[in-house]
Amino acid sequence: MTLDRTVFARARASLEERRKSREERTARRQEEAIRRVPGLAEIDGELRNVMSGVFRAALEGGDTEARIRAAGEESLRLQEKRRELLEKAGYPRDYLDEEPNCSRCRDTGFVGTEPCECLMELYRKEQARELSSLTRLQGESFDSFQLFWYSDEPNESGVSPRAHMKAVLDYCRSYARRFGSRSDNLLFTGGPGLGKTFLSACIAGEVSGSGHSVVYQTAGEVFAAFEEARFGRGEREETAEAALNRLMNCDLLILDDLGTEMTNSLTVAGLYELVNTRLSGGRKTIISTNLAPAELAGRYSPQISSRILGDYEILRFTGEDIRILKKQKR
Ligand SMILES: [Zn+2]
Repeated sequence: MTLDRTVFARARASLEERRKSREERTARRQEEAIRRVPGLAEIDGELRNVMSGVFRAALEGGDTEARIRAAGEESLRLQEKRRELLEKAGYPRDYLDEEPNCSRCRDTGFVGTEPCECLMELYRKEQARELSSLTRLQGESFDSFQLFWYSDEPNESGVSPRAHMKAVLDYCRSYARRFGSRSDNLLFTGGPGLGKTFLSACIAGEVSGSGHSVVYQTAGEVFAAFEEARFGRGEREETAEAALNRLMNCDLLILDDLGTEMTNSLTVAGLYELVNTRLSGGRKTIISTNLAPAELAGRYSPQISSRILGDYEILRFTGEDIRILKKQKR
């Protein structure tokens, strides 16, 4: 599983934020308690003496171990006394005990060199937040996909759009649930308003929820990143390079709305590089497009079309534009 660097950095920043606000809270409490609890300042002074004694012992050598042990006991005794004073003054006993939010990593975010579960939890939250802003998917899920908008009249092949879309929905649901290195690459094809964006966003949400790195972008945004990386300068170029890196290396890339953007030689080269790099790296891609599979070669290139048609599973979305149907019903 590849972690997304940008999202991971945000998760670490948010852990750091949490640790800081906890320290600030303890400092505020400390200040207040010193003013209100008689005898507390003296004990704090003694505690500091004990600690600097330990430090001296370490520097001076001799029977360091015994001195450190004695200092440890003294420090525990003083801390206990501190709790008693707090209690007597009407505070909770543990008012000034600073406990980390996570006892496994003591809020460092790492256990050895591995990210701690608490950090991964923040990572998943950051990723979900990013995806939901990109996909405008608000609480929608496979369960809210409404099959009744699709006609149940069988077409010439004897299958109704509803039955067909039920199969597509089931496929997508199981794809998201079992996503991994052996998953297929998918091409969602069909006219506008048939649920391609909806279902790809549902897959994005679920796959990212299981800890994989997912990037969801429209083809237009992806090609803009290619152009920026090519023509941008300095900081903008770096940002664009980082964006390209994510596009190339995330576990699942969802490229929405291919075929609506302006095409030029750069977009064609960019798309070929993207499709190829991801295929050879074994990373999964879902492309959704209003174009029919046969139109890919004409709009992009025969090489792109043959890679996609040869290596992607094709899911056809059929029926009538349900956005229009929904409007008519209002
Ligand atoms: Zn932790």
